[in-house]
Amino acid sequence: MTIGGEARNDSGQRFGVMTRSLSSFPDIIRAVEGLPDTITFLGTAGARFVVTKQFLASGGAWLNFGGTEILLDPGPGCLVQSVKRKLDASRLKAIILSHKHLDHSGDINIMIEAMTEGGWKQRGVVFAPSDALDKDAVILPYLQNYPQEIDILSEGKSYSIEDISFETPVKHRHPVETYGFVFRTPRHTLSWITDTKYFGALSRYYRAELLIMNVVMLESRDGVDHLSIPEARQIIEEVKPKAAILTHFGMSLWRAKPWELAQKLSEDTGIKVIAARDGMRFDLARLEEL
Ligand SMILES: [Zn+2]
Repeated sequence: MTIGGEARNDSGQRFGVMTRSLSSFPDIIRAVEGLPDTITFLGTAGARFVVTKQFLASGGAWLNFGGTEILLDPGPGCLVQSVKRKLDASRLKAIILSHKHLDHSGDINIMIEAMTEGGWKQRGVVFAPSDALDKDAVILPYLQNYPQEIDILSEGKSYSIEDISFETPVKHRHPVETYGFVFRTPRHTLSWITDTKYFGALSRYYRAELLIMNVVMLESRDGVDHLSIPEARQIIEEVKPKAAILTHFGMSLWRAKPWELAQKLSEDTGIKVIAARDGMRFDLARLEEL
């Protein structure tokens, strides 16, 4: 696509202006292709004490993909964190739950109420694994007809929300039914490896330009089904994204200063690694600068 410039009396000059590529006009590209894709971290806490003491917030993430707003894993404090940041739940098109553990689902009921304005406006889609709705449901039965639809997540499936699609490529190794996501917007791909014990094929399922990972531990520990820093490093080396973001920090990892660990991972892998911060808003247009 090209864009016109001012007319000149010399046709050769005018031709030169007329054929300037749109890539010289990033603002126009954005106007043409839609609003930017952004992720706002409403929390970065990942283990029981970091959540229950609120050393870090635990509200999940607010995705805005070209104006399509999606809430991921509304943990405890999501309502407060989102209102504080002037994010309006009545604009949400979907709420996605990776799994029913409380640090991911604590505020899901109130966020369904907020999305549907107390149930008065039937709108939005809720995506959740079946065990979040059946036995020991974390989504209260009386709210289940508030959204337009509830879609059950299952392994190897693909879903869409307006012009955004996402996949749940593989069932994670975690005590309850858990999925990660590969999102495709008209502009970018990003994958989010939510809670899981490490397994060798993980990186094969989550190839994308931006890789986000829930990394709870400094070192892996038997019996704890979460990723650690050495495992995250291996996944980054295998996926080779343009950038990786670490979040969902447990206590040992938080004490070790995640931003310093991210810096070290960047140096070791040659890939930009960022430690998420509470309230951080990441614009995926930044990937083009890396
Ligand atoms: Zn979990």
